[in-house]
Amino acid sequence: MEERKKKRIAILGSTGSIGTQTLDVVRRHPDRYEVYAICAHRSVDLLIEQARAFHPEVVCIADESLYSTLRDALQDMPVKVWSGADAIAQMVTMPSIDVVVAAMVGYAGLRPTIEAIKAGKTIALANKETLVVAGEIICRLALEHHTPILPVDSEHSAIFQSLVGEDKNEIEKILLTASGGPFRTFTLDQMRSVTASDALKHPNWDMGAKITIDSASMMNKGFEVIEAKWLFGVPVEKIQVLVHPQSIVHSAVQFTDGAIKAQLGAPDMRLPIQYALSFPERLAADFPRADLFSLGSLTFEKPDLERFPNLRLAYEAMQRGGNMPCVLNAANEVVNLAFRQGRCGFLQMSDIISTTMAKADFIGKPTYEDYVATDAVARQIAEELI
Ligand code: MN
Repeated sequence: MEERKKKRIAILGSTGSIGTQTLDVVRRHPDRYEVYAICAHRSVDLLIEQARAFHPEVVCIADESLYSTLRDALQDMPVKVWSGADAIAQMVTMPSIDVVVAAMVGYAGLRPTIEAIKAGKTIALANKETLVVAGEIICRLALEHHTPILPVDSEHSAIFQSLVGEDKNEIEKILLTASGGPFRTFTLDQMRSVTASDALKHPNWDMGAKITIDSASMMNKGFEVIEAKWLFGVPVEKIQVLVHPQSIVHSAVQFTDGAIKAQLGAPDMRLPIQYALSFPERLAADFPRADLFSLGSLTFEKPDLERFPNLRLAYEAMQRGGNMPCVLNAANEVVNLAFRQGRCGFLQMSDIISTTMAKADFIGKPTYEDYVATDAVARQIAEELI
């Protein structure tokens, strides 16, 4: 029998939605993958459970106040227990690690992803905020260090899959699909009074709270336009968002001869996660199948920028460039949390992001330090506007 070296995986954000589904994929292919390191923000109980089930070499908790809880709970196991942002940044560079699944939420994922790229680790990228904030730096470093970045986001995985075998063939257009979220058919008046629990009822995808709110406000799709620009080197003018409520066509690429290639499937994140880990192979899996007969029809509509101004703000941030997408992200992280806590209305979120973009200082060619400073200032501006 052929001896295959197992891929050793580090998961940043192992207790979140992508993290737990990554562990499910690993559990299905114990001959292929091995969990080397797991890391969570503050879900310490689940992290302990995962450590006992997967026996990683390193377990790390970002919130340092939970370090002793984690250490005490795992003291009978031969495992390194670390905590804090510096430890996470160091963890991803460990020589034994082959793949880093970057599935932390928000801006916090930027630094460890940069460290992992510099260390030449293959990146399975779920943290889109990383590319929104600092796509230019990430792409430059990935080129410099010959680090592959494989998309985990379902739309970008679909685009990536559609590009297999196309080598240098030019992309005319990317067709980025969006479910439209729970408020797709709502009037502006109805949207004014929606609550966080209304927004957390996503029609098709089961995701974490932050991204589910971003989905409802379509900021998630705005971020994905920016993410696609960086991953596939296509200007945002050539990225068209299509509202496709069935979430079966996960996105498509149109080539210069008019051919459109798409990837379809049931909405289940385990498929793009597994593909990012197994590429260029496909591994057999019994994930749910899309039954086209029972679906009957697939529909597509133009997004409404009046009701979903976040999409317009994302294009605007990208067109202005520099640190503007970083401002967009920081303001969004603030209002997203405020909305979940009931401190900010649904439509107010876009107003605050827009005003923050107008107030923040523009930096045309930001360094990493500029991004860190921009993030802090934009958060402060947005917080004061609530
Ligand atoms: Mn997505």
